[in-house]
Amino acid sequence: MTAQTAPAHISDREITDPRQYLCDRHNAMPGSLQDYDCPVCKNKGWIYRLADGAEVARRCPCMDVRESIRRMKRSGLYNKLNVQTFDAFHAVEPWQQTLLRKAKQYAERHDRPGFFLGGQQGSGKTHLCTAVCAALLRQGLSVQYFVWETDVKEILNRSGISDREEHDRRMRPLLESAVLYLDDFLRKPNPTQSERSVAFDVINRRYNDGKITLVTSEHSIDELMNTDEAVASRIREMCGAAYCMSIAPDRRKNYRLHGKP
Ligand SMILES: [Zn+2]
Repeated sequence: MTAQTAPAHISDREITDPRQYLCDRHNAMPGSLQDYDCPVCKNKGWIYRLADGAEVARRCPCMDVRESIRRMKRSGLYNKLNVQTFDAFHAVEPWQQTLLRKAKQYAERHDRPGFFLGGQQGSGKTHLCTAVCAALLRQGLSVQYFVWETDVKEILNRSGISDREEHDRRMRPLLESAVLYLDDFLRKPNPTQSERSVAFDVINRRYNDGKITLVTSEHSIDELMNTDEAVASRIREMCGAAYCMSIAPDRRKNYRLHGKP
């Protein structure tokens, strides 16, 4: 059959390259994945292409975004994005006003790769970092959220040889995402060697790459220096003096005891 005699509804391309035509057809089909509308894979999670004459499927990059949203939902951060805003932060005391001003400044400029809030529990650290995350998401940056204790455990549970691929897949967003928020970082006073090793790999890589890393911790930066100097000194350098803030212990600053920040 020649192009001249082909029925009108069959394109030239189908005739010249039917395998590519099938790939395009598969790519054009809509999928049913939720949470994020991907123009590339049409919410299927797969992209089809020809390799050595055969159709192969590869994972669409939007799956990392979906994973990020899933993690934010599971941790509760997703629902907090519209609640824990800058406007909702109760800044009455001078120390609260300073934290709010610095967080807003960072959200707008992110002129250093690091932002650290440590110290007193219940002082609104997670609230402010959540508001920074929301601002960065609105600027189109991909944000990965990790609750340190929970998520590092999942990674360390995949340390066997057969888990290598899954381990690397879970590490990738920590290392490569444009923005990473590590919540409740290195909480235990004596983290295991494996946990410290993951912490170092993550912080060192992001330090070298200059990638935006937000960290909250119950510990001050000086306390973290005692826990792991190599990790804490890199965080301090990434933040500079402007964005490395530790709130001195003072129960009056705990909103869980005295009302919302
Ligand atoms: Zn996609």
